[in-house]
Amino acid sequence: MAGNDRILKQLQEIVGAEYATNDEALMYPYSYDLTWNDPHMPDYVVLPKTVEQIQRILRLANRERIPVVPYVTGTNIGGLCIPEEGGILMDLKRMDQILEINTETGYAVIEPGVSHAKFSAALKKHGYEFGWGVHPASASVLAMAINHGIGHLNGRFGINSQMISSMEVVLPTGEVAKIGSCAYSNSWHSLYPLPMLAGLFIGWIGTTGIVTKLGVWISKIRPYKDVLTIAAKSAEDMTKYMVAWRDLELCDEVTAVSWWLAQVPIPYPYKEKPANEPEWFSYTVISGWSEEEIAYKRKMWKEVVERERAKGVKLIDFEYPPEAKRGRTELPSRIVGSTKNYSKACGGGLAWPGTFTPAKNWPIIYEKWKEIYIRHNLSPAVRFTDYRGSHYGMLRLMTPFDKRDPKAVQNAREAMKECIEVGVPLGMIPYKPPVEYWNIINKYADPGWIMLLTKIKDCLDPNHIMNPGKLGVR
Ligand SMILES: Cc1cc2nc3c(=O)[nH]c(=O)nc-3n(C[C@H](O)[C@H](O)[C@H](O)COP(=O)(O)OP(=O)(O)OC[C@H]3O[C@@H](n4cnc5c(N)ncnc54)[C@H](O)[C@@H]3O)c2cc1C
Repeated sequence: MAGNDRILKQLQEIVGAEYATNDEALMYPYSYDLTWNDPHMPDYVVLPKTVEQIQRILRLANRERIPVVPYVTGTNIGGLCIPEEGGILMDLKRMDQILEINTETGYAVIEPGVSHAKFSAALKKHGYEFGWGVHPASASVLAMAINHGIGHLNGRFGINSQMISSMEVVLPTGEVAKIGSCAYSNSWHSLYPLPMLAGLFIGWIGTTGIVTKLGVWISKIRPYKDVLTIAAKSAEDMTKYMVAWRDLELCDEVTAVSWWLAQVPIPYPYKEKPANEPEWFSYTVISGWSEEEIAYKRKMWKEVVERERAKGVKLIDFEYPPEAKRGRTELPSRIVGSTKNYSKACGGGLAWPGTFTPAKNWPIIYEKWKEIYIRHNLSPAVRFTDYRGSHYGMLRLMTPFDKRDPKAVQNAREAMKECIEVGVPLGMIPYKPPVEYWNIINKYADPGWIMLLTKIKDCLDPNHIMNPGKLGVR
């Protein structure tokens, strides 16, 4: 048994004996994730059901100076829920209610434990959707959205944190606060025109409080969809095409993957690409209210392709099989991006360097990453996705590796850190970064930025109990 019985008893008094434990066998699954981050056991695992229970746990943790790590399913691929300093692992899965689906105003209110599968099924009944990624369907919508998650409507609306309309949060010191319109009425429709205090809890990877309710904008499902595909010889040509096409703002998503990411599973170790195959493949999802709208978007897309070809950009025709098209238009999907597809060729390890990067630097960084990965005998399985807002987006190198072999883990870890070193000076900002990435990027950071980050963290979490160490500054 880990932890101590006095604390365990108090936790059990708060949540009930069944929902707090220090039994090592039960806690073991919380000690690691898919990544190369070193495992560490928590001292206690606790599963609260109510906001009031969370408040009481945080007050206890403050009194006793015990770290608290918020957790739903731990699939963040960044080691973000590994309790490096032990303490209380707070699993929020039992808080799994969809509290409201308001189609009149266009938002929904969810608890942390609501999964993508549950939310998508409930919204679909009303003819609505949210931005689904290629994550496990069992993972948390809230944990995704508050950490700048990326879903299939990113070309239309941007990333999922841009869809947040209100929130309720328990501060590290135990007080509850509502943020946005819900602070003034029971309507969860907007964070605007108020001061943007939601920013204190978005992108902070569980280090500034526990978000207990989240309002998100939802979108009506458009009945007509199509997937447009094109390949390119080089990352440079693919980027030129993507930027020209996204300028028209007609698509839900435009993504490109390197040959290695297009393979199922990703080759492990590195495998050479056949010389006659293109290096890049892209898909665009378009949607509309009528066949005419889809036909218009198809026509505009063809014009872009022809215009780019006339400028010398080498684009190659290719078609997705119907199965792959369905995977792109019927997310959340069992076909696309399931964890086993990424890592089933090896021993279950998965991590990546990336991501938010100006599009103009995607090809430059890609060529450098390719050299690093081939040197490490790993496949350069890279994805580009252009987000709405400006020409920036996901530059991500999905990396399977063999977790059973410490040398293979170290090899992947070193390769990824090299990639971060290369990307940051070219404008890349890692997304949901493991602590080791923070240690690299903070070297480049503006001192005023670090000062402000630290001040805010200290102010909200004076005893440094919330997911300590994860920001690389505290
Ligand atoms: C194969 C694969 C593909 C993926 N593809 C995508 C993708 O396309 N888009 C995408 O966005 N993500 C993707 N992910 C990452 C991840 O699966 C999703 O973001 C997921 O929704 C996160 O939910 P989770 O339950 O795993 O969160 P967790 O990993 O449990 O938590 C994530 C972070 O949020 C914090 N946290 C959790 N709950 C709270 C709370 N209530 N308050 C404050 N902090 C909290 C945790 O401490 C942690 O820092 C992918 C993962 C895998 C394995």
